[in-house]
Amino acid sequence: MTLTQVRQLLAEFDIRPSKALGQNFLIDGNILRILIEQADLRGDETVLEIGPGLGALTLELVARAKRVVAIERDKRLCQYLRDHVDGVELIEGDAVKILEQPDFRIAAPYKVVSNLPYSISTPILERLVERKDQPRAMVLTLQREVANRLAATPRHKDYGALTVFTQLWYHVTIAHLISPGCFYPAPHVDSAIVVLERRDPRVKLLAGAPFHDLVRAGFGQRRKMLRKLLAKFGDVDAAFAAASVAATARAEELAIDQWIVLANSLHPRT
Ligand code: SAM
Repeated sequence: MTLTQVRQLLAEFDIRPSKALGQNFLIDGNILRILIEQADLRGDETVLEIGPGLGALTLELVARAKRVVAIERDKRLCQYLRDHVDGVELIEGDAVKILEQPDFRIAAPYKVVSNLPYSISTPILERLVERKDQPRAMVLTLQREVANRLAATPRHKDYGALTVFTQLWYHVTIAHLISPGCFYPAPHVDSAIVVLERRDPRVKLLAGAPFHDLVRAGFGQRRKMLRKLLAKFGDVDAAFAAASVAATARAEELAIDQWIVLANSLHPRT
Protein backbone atom coordinates (compact mmCIF):
# COMPACT_ATOMS: atom_id res chain seq x y z
CA MET A 1 0.00 0.00 0.00
CA THR A 2 1.26 3.48 -0.84
CA LEU A 3 1.05 6.50 1.43
CA THR A 4 -1.76 7.89 -0.73
CA GLN A 5 -3.76 4.64 -0.52
CA VAL A 6 -3.36 4.39 3.25
CA ARG A 7 -4.36 8.03 3.73
CA GLN A 8 -7.38 7.60 1.45
CA LEU A 9 -8.56 4.48 3.27
CA LEU A 10 -8.15 6.07 6.68
CA ALA A 11 -10.08 9.14 5.54
CA GLU A 12 -12.80 7.09 3.80
CA PHE A 13 -13.44 4.97 6.89
CA ASP A 14 -12.91 7.85 9.28
CA ILE A 15 -10.07 6.14 11.12
CA ARG A 16 -7.50 8.28 12.91
CA PRO A 17 -4.35 6.21 13.61
CA SER A 18 -4.16 5.43 17.32
CA LYS A 19 -0.81 5.93 19.02
CA ALA A 20 -1.85 3.76 21.95
CA LEU A 21 -2.50 0.86 19.55
CA GLY A 22 0.82 1.42 17.75
CA GLN A 23 -0.92 2.07 14.44
CA ASN A 24 1.96 2.81 12.09
CA PHE A 25 0.92 1.38 8.74
CA LEU A 26 3.47 -0.01 6.33
CA ILE A 27 3.70 2.11 3.16
CA ASP A 28 6.92 0.77 1.66
CA GLY A 29 6.66 -1.94 -0.99
CA ASN A 30 10.30 -2.92 -0.60
CA ILE A 31 9.90 -3.68 3.13
CA LEU A 32 6.76 -5.68 2.38
CA ARG A 33 8.70 -7.67 -0.22
CA ILE A 34 11.54 -8.39 2.25
CA LEU A 35 9.07 -9.51 4.95
CA ILE A 36 7.46 -11.95 2.51
CA GLU A 37 10.82 -13.15 1.21
CA GLN A 38 12.06 -13.82 4.75
CA ALA A 39 8.83 -15.64 5.66
CA ASP A 40 9.61 -18.10 2.86
CA LEU A 41 6.05 -19.43 2.79
CA ARG A 42 4.99 -22.64 1.14
CA GLY A 43 1.44 -23.23 0.05
CA ASP A 44 0.79 -25.76 2.84
CA GLU A 45 1.67 -23.46 5.74
CA THR A 46 -0.36 -21.71 8.43
CA VAL A 47 0.50 -18.14 9.38
CA LEU A 48 -0.46 -16.08 12.40
CA GLU A 49 -0.46 -12.32 11.91
CA ILE A 50 -0.83 -9.98 14.87
CA GLY A 51 -2.26 -6.55 14.06
CA PRO A 52 -3.29 -6.86 10.38
CA GLY A 53 -4.34 -3.19 10.30
CA LEU A 54 -5.50 -2.29 6.79
CA GLY A 55 -4.38 -5.66 5.47
CA ALA A 56 -1.32 -4.68 3.41
CA LEU A 57 0.70 -7.65 4.70
CA THR A 58 -2.38 -9.87 5.16
CA LEU A 59 -3.20 -9.80 1.44
CA GLU A 60 0.30 -11.05 0.60
CA LEU A 61 0.09 -13.77 3.25
CA VAL A 62 -3.31 -14.96 2.05
CA ALA A 63 -1.91 -15.25 -1.48
CA ARG A 64 0.95 -17.50 -0.29
CA ALA A 65 -0.14 -19.56 2.73
CA LYS A 66 -2.72 -22.30 3.15
CA ARG A 67 -4.29 -20.62 6.15
CA VAL A 68 -3.93 -17.14 7.70
CA VAL A 69 -5.18 -16.36 11.20
CA ALA A 70 -5.02 -12.68 12.22
CA ILE A 71 -5.67 -11.03 15.59
CA GLU A 72 -6.69 -7.36 15.52
CA ARG A 73 -7.79 -5.31 18.50
CA ASP A 74 -9.25 -2.27 16.73
CA LYS A 75 -12.98 -2.77 16.02
CA ARG A 76 -12.97 -0.31 13.09
CA LEU A 77 -10.09 -2.09 11.38
CA CYS A 78 -11.77 -5.46 11.98
CA GLN A 79 -14.87 -4.20 10.23
CA TYR A 80 -12.77 -2.94 7.32
CA LEU A 81 -10.90 -6.26 7.06
CA ARG A 82 -14.11 -8.33 7.12
CA ASP A 83 -15.48 -6.26 4.25
CA HIS A 84 -12.34 -6.03 2.13
CA VAL A 85 -9.88 -8.88 2.79
CA ASP A 86 -11.02 -12.37 1.83
CA GLY A 87 -9.47 -15.59 3.04
CA VAL A 88 -8.28 -14.50 6.49
CA GLU A 89 -9.60 -15.97 9.75
CA LEU A 90 -9.97 -12.79 11.76
CA ILE A 91 -10.06 -12.80 15.54
CA GLU A 92 -11.14 -9.54 17.14
CA GLY A 93 -9.37 -9.03 20.47
CA ASP A 94 -6.20 -8.31 22.40
CA ALA A 95 -3.40 -10.55 21.13
CA VAL A 96 -1.57 -10.40 24.48
CA LYS A 97 -4.56 -11.91 26.28
CA ILE A 98 -5.43 -14.37 23.51
CA LEU A 99 -1.87 -15.77 23.37
CA GLU A 100 -1.96 -16.34 27.12
CA GLN A 101 -4.89 -18.72 26.82
CA PRO A 102 -3.67 -22.33 26.78
CA ASP A 103 -6.76 -23.38 24.84
CA PHE A 104 -5.94 -20.96 22.00
CA ARG A 105 -4.24 -23.32 19.56
CA ILE A 106 -3.18 -23.00 15.97
CA ALA A 107 -2.60 -26.35 14.32
CA ALA A 108 1.20 -26.69 14.41
CA PRO A 109 3.51 -26.15 12.63
CA TYR A 110 2.89 -22.48 11.94
CA LYS A 111 4.81 -19.25 11.41
CA VAL A 112 4.19 -15.76 12.77
CA VAL A 113 4.61 -12.90 10.29
CA SER A 114 3.77 -9.51 11.67
CA ASN A 115 4.45 -5.82 11.83
CA LEU A 116 3.98 -5.69 15.60
CA PRO A 117 2.55 -2.72 17.50
CA TYR A 118 5.57 -1.36 19.37
CA SER A 119 3.91 -0.87 22.73
CA ILE A 120 3.21 -4.60 23.11
CA SER A 121 6.00 -6.19 21.09
CA THR A 122 7.85 -7.49 24.17
CA PRO A 123 4.82 -9.11 25.90
CA ILE A 124 3.74 -10.63 22.57
CA LEU A 125 7.20 -12.10 22.01
CA GLU A 126 7.40 -13.46 25.54
CA ARG A 127 4.06 -15.18 25.13
CA LEU A 128 4.92 -16.67 21.74
CA VAL A 129 8.27 -17.99 22.97
CA GLU A 130 6.68 -19.48 26.10
CA ARG A 131 3.77 -21.18 24.34
CA LYS A 132 3.57 -24.96 24.33
CA ASP A 133 2.89 -24.78 20.60
CA GLN A 134 5.72 -22.42 19.68
CA PRO A 135 5.81 -21.08 16.13
CA ARG A 136 8.48 -22.74 14.02
CA ALA A 137 9.59 -19.34 12.72
CA MET A 138 8.75 -15.68 13.22
CA VAL A 139 9.38 -12.77 10.90
CA LEU A 140 8.67 -9.55 12.74
CA THR A 141 9.16 -5.83 12.41
CA LEU A 142 10.23 -4.54 15.77
CA GLN A 143 11.63 -1.43 17.33
CA ARG A 144 15.37 -1.42 16.63
CA GLU A 145 16.14 -1.40 20.34
CA VAL A 146 14.09 -4.58 20.92
CA ALA A 147 15.69 -6.21 17.85
CA ASN A 148 19.13 -5.47 19.30
CA ARG A 149 18.15 -7.04 22.62
CA LEU A 150 16.88 -10.19 20.93
CA ALA A 151 20.01 -10.67 18.83
CA ALA A 152 22.58 -9.63 21.49
CA THR A 153 25.59 -11.73 22.41
CA PRO A 154 27.08 -12.21 25.92
CA ARG A 155 28.96 -9.25 27.46
CA HIS A 156 26.99 -6.76 25.37
CA LYS A 157 24.87 -4.15 27.15
CA ASP A 158 21.75 -5.32 25.25
CA TYR A 159 22.19 -8.92 26.43
CA GLY A 160 19.51 -9.53 29.07
CA ALA A 161 16.69 -11.78 30.25
CA LEU A 162 14.67 -11.25 27.04
CA THR A 163 17.72 -12.30 24.97
CA VAL A 164 18.25 -15.46 26.99
CA PHE A 165 14.57 -16.48 27.07
CA THR A 166 14.32 -16.00 23.30
CA GLN A 167 17.64 -17.54 22.29
CA LEU A 168 16.93 -20.59 24.43
CA TRP A 169 14.54 -21.70 21.67
CA TYR A 170 15.24 -19.47 18.68
CA HIS A 171 18.11 -18.53 16.43
CA VAL A 172 17.77 -14.75 15.96
CA THR A 173 18.90 -12.70 12.96
CA ILE A 174 18.38 -9.02 12.19
CA ALA A 175 17.55 -9.24 8.48
CA HIS A 176 17.00 -5.59 7.58
CA LEU A 177 16.91 -2.12 9.15
CA ILE A 178 13.85 0.08 8.51
CA SER A 179 13.67 3.87 8.65
CA PRO A 180 10.62 5.63 10.17
CA GLY A 181 9.55 6.94 6.73
CA CYS A 182 8.46 3.42 5.71
CA PHE A 183 5.39 3.78 7.96
CA TYR A 184 2.45 6.17 8.17
CA PRO A 185 2.39 7.92 10.52
CA ALA A 186 6.18 7.73 10.91
CA PRO A 187 7.17 6.42 14.37
CA HIS A 188 9.83 8.25 16.40
CA VAL A 189 12.13 5.24 16.39
CA ASP A 190 14.01 3.08 13.90
CA SER A 191 12.81 -0.45 13.27
CA ALA A 192 14.20 -3.73 12.03
CA ILE A 193 12.99 -6.96 10.47
CA VAL A 194 13.94 -9.79 12.80
CA VAL A 195 13.86 -13.46 11.84
CA LEU A 196 13.55 -16.06 14.59
CA GLU A 197 13.98 -19.72 13.70
CA ARG A 198 13.01 -22.45 16.17
CA ARG A 199 15.78 -24.83 17.13
CA ASP A 200 16.38 -27.14 20.06
CA PRO A 201 19.02 -25.98 22.54
CA ARG A 202 22.37 -27.82 22.30
CA VAL A 203 22.06 -28.83 25.96
CA LYS A 204 18.75 -30.36 27.01
CA LEU A 205 16.89 -28.34 29.62
CA LEU A 206 15.43 -30.70 32.26
CA ALA A 207 11.70 -30.45 32.87
CA GLY A 208 11.10 -28.35 35.98
CA ALA A 209 14.64 -26.85 36.03
CA PRO A 210 14.43 -23.28 37.41
CA PHE A 211 15.74 -21.68 34.20
CA HIS A 212 13.44 -18.64 34.24
CA ASP A 213 13.89 -17.97 37.95
CA LEU A 214 17.67 -18.10 37.65
CA VAL A 215 17.81 -15.82 34.61
CA ARG A 216 15.41 -13.33 36.21
CA ALA A 217 17.36 -13.32 39.48
CA GLY A 218 20.66 -12.93 37.60
CA PHE A 219 19.62 -10.03 35.40
CA GLY A 220 17.51 -8.40 38.13
CA GLN A 221 20.76 -6.95 39.49
CA ARG A 222 23.04 -7.34 36.52
CA ARG A 223 26.03 -5.53 38.04
CA LYS A 224 26.18 -7.89 41.00
CA MET A 225 28.11 -11.15 41.05
CA LEU A 226 25.88 -14.02 39.99
CA ARG A 227 27.20 -16.35 42.66
CA LYS A 228 25.67 -14.21 45.40
CA LEU A 229 22.41 -13.67 43.54
CA LEU A 230 21.90 -17.40 43.00
CA ALA A 231 22.99 -18.60 46.46
CA LYS A 232 19.39 -19.24 47.49
CA PHE A 233 18.91 -21.81 44.71
CA GLY A 234 21.26 -24.46 46.13
CA ASP A 235 24.86 -25.63 45.74
CA VAL A 236 26.04 -22.77 43.53
CA ASP A 237 29.72 -23.76 43.62
CA ALA A 238 28.99 -27.21 42.18
CA ALA A 239 26.64 -25.71 39.58
CA PHE A 240 29.21 -23.07 38.56
CA ALA A 241 31.86 -25.79 38.18
CA ALA A 242 29.51 -27.93 36.03
CA ALA A 243 28.75 -24.93 33.79
CA SER A 244 32.37 -23.67 33.68
CA VAL A 245 31.31 -20.31 35.09
CA ALA A 246 33.90 -18.22 36.93
CA ALA A 247 33.14 -17.48 40.58
CA THR A 248 33.18 -13.73 39.85
CA ALA A 249 30.92 -13.89 36.76
CA ARG A 250 27.97 -11.56 36.20
CA ALA A 251 24.76 -12.58 34.41
CA GLU A 252 25.71 -10.83 31.16
CA GLU A 253 28.79 -13.06 30.73
CA LEU A 254 26.94 -16.39 30.50
CA ALA A 255 26.11 -18.07 27.20
CA ILE A 256 22.72 -19.82 26.82
CA ASP A 257 24.22 -23.31 27.29
CA GLN A 258 25.78 -22.21 30.58
CA TRP A 259 22.40 -20.96 31.85
CA ILE A 260 20.93 -24.35 30.96
CA VAL A 261 23.65 -26.30 32.80
CA LEU A 262 23.23 -24.02 35.84
CA ALA A 263 19.46 -24.54 35.82
CA ASN A 264 19.83 -28.32 35.45
CA SER A 265 22.40 -28.45 38.28
CA LEU A 266 20.34 -26.33 40.65
CA HIS A 267 17.23 -28.34 39.92
CA PRO A 268 16.18 -29.96 43.21
CA ARG A 269 15.63 -33.62 42.40
CA THR A 270 13.61 -35.70 44.82
N1 SAM B 1 -0.11 -4.89 9.66
C1 SAM B 1 -0.42 -3.49 9.40
C2 SAM B 1 0.67 -2.90 8.53
O1 SAM B 1 1.73 -3.53 8.44
O2 SAM B 1 0.46 -1.84 7.98
C3 SAM B 1 -0.58 -2.69 10.69
C4 SAM B 1 0.59 -2.73 11.64
S1 SAM B 1 0.46 -1.59 12.97
C5 SAM B 1 2.17 -1.36 13.37
C6 SAM B 1 -0.04 -2.56 14.37
C7 SAM B 1 -1.45 -3.12 14.32
O3 SAM B 1 -1.66 -3.86 15.54
C8 SAM B 1 -2.59 -2.10 14.26
O4 SAM B 1 -3.51 -2.51 13.30
C9 SAM B 1 -3.20 -2.13 15.67
O5 SAM B 1 -4.57 -1.78 15.70
C10 SAM B 1 -2.97 -3.57 16.07
N2 SAM B 1 -2.92 -3.81 17.52
C11 SAM B 1 -2.49 -2.98 18.49
N3 SAM B 1 -2.57 -3.55 19.70
C12 SAM B 1 -3.06 -4.81 19.49
C13 SAM B 1 -3.38 -5.90 20.36
N4 SAM B 1 -3.19 -5.82 21.67
N5 SAM B 1 -3.86 -7.02 19.80
C14 SAM B 1 -4.05 -7.14 18.45
N6 SAM B 1 -3.77 -6.12 17.60
C15 SAM B 1 -3.28 -4.98 18.11
